[in-house]
Amino acid sequence: MQVPAPFGYERASSVDDAIALLERHGDEARIVAGGHSLLPMMKIRLARPETLIDINDLEAQLSYLRIEDGELRIGAMTRHADLLDSALAAEHFMLFRDAERVIADPIVRNRGTIGGSLCQADPSEDLSAAFAAAKASVVIRSSAGERIVPVADFHEGPYQTVVGDAEMLTEVRVPIRPGGGSAYEKVERRVGDWAIAASGVCVWLDGDTISDVGIGLAAVGAEHFLAAEAEASLRGGPATAEAIAEAGRLAAEHCDPVSDQRGPADYKRHLAGELTKRALTRAVARARGEQA
Ligand SMILES: Cc1cc2nc3c(=O)[nH]c(=O)nc-3n(C[C@H](O)[C@H](O)[C@H](O)COP(=O)(O)OP(=O)(O)OC[C@H]3O[C@@H](n4cnc5c(N)ncnc54)[C@H](O)[C@@H]3O)c2cc1C
Repeated sequence: MQVPAPFGYERASSVDDAIALLERHGDEARIVAGGHSLLPMMKIRLARPETLIDINDLEAQLSYLRIEDGELRIGAMTRHADLLDSALAAEHFMLFRDAERVIADPIVRNRGTIGGSLCQADPSEDLSAAFAAAKASVVIRSSAGERIVPVADFHEGPYQTVVGDAEMLTEVRVPIRPGGGSAYEKVERRVGDWAIAASGVCVWLDGDTISDVGIGLAAVGAEHFLAAEAEASLRGGPATAEAIAEAGRLAAEHCDPVSDQRGPADYKRHLAGELTKRALTRAVARARGEQA
């Protein structure tokens, strides 16, 4: 089936209007942003919303990258291409540029949004792993006000998030801390494809000690996209090759990949470990100012 089921269509004129429309149309209404995930699912009838609420007129309000209160703040309607090109984002978190370089193709990156990517909650989604590693939070709005949820608590499972029926994600906030370096490593079957496995890392150094670290994994069944055991093994210790190798081993041991058309589970597990080691090595070098 390549034709969506019939649906109603509304265009929101503001965030409040989008939320009012979500409330009016109930749990069968869905927001559409770039449409690169939702429309393909509608065409094969995996999704059958009764009403689409188009938020593309909110670009002026919700498309931005700025620093505020020590955080990198990214509006939900910011397109992948804007995050890829942002010198501000790259100055503080190179892993976003690393990740965006290997997300899909220019057509998808020109339309697909940061909010849509997170809300789609595909287990192979790159930015979920990158934002989890960066210890980001998201701002979720409803008519009752706004709540802030850490990305680590945002995903409830494949294609499921904590965003309620009459709620909307409006912003992603990434705290900026001194001594940071970050990197994203991905293996895909061909250019522009989803990950076979990917690992995103943020480290914060205090001298030669890793004061904090975030490791996000995509496409390998990591709980909340995180490699918690690998993070714990590094926190408070030295940033040595041995410590990095052990963290890679733990990341591989504790993820839970499945065999599918992208490869067998043991290959993905191997990649999770190897990519974590490479991302950690690059992130540490960047934190030390040894690598761009
Ligand atoms: C060919 C192709 C290749 C791709 N390759 C990759 C890849 O390599 N890596 C990767 O990570 N991704 C990849 N993607 C996915 C792509 O990045 C996402 O589809 C896209 O960015 C999702 O954003 P969107 O704005 O298009 O979301 P939409 O399709 O508009 O929406 C997706 C979901 O999010 C909800 N939603 C959207 N915005 C909000 C909001 N502000 N608040 C609440 N809910 C919202 C919608 O209701 C819907 O359920 C690929 C997609 C395609 C088509």
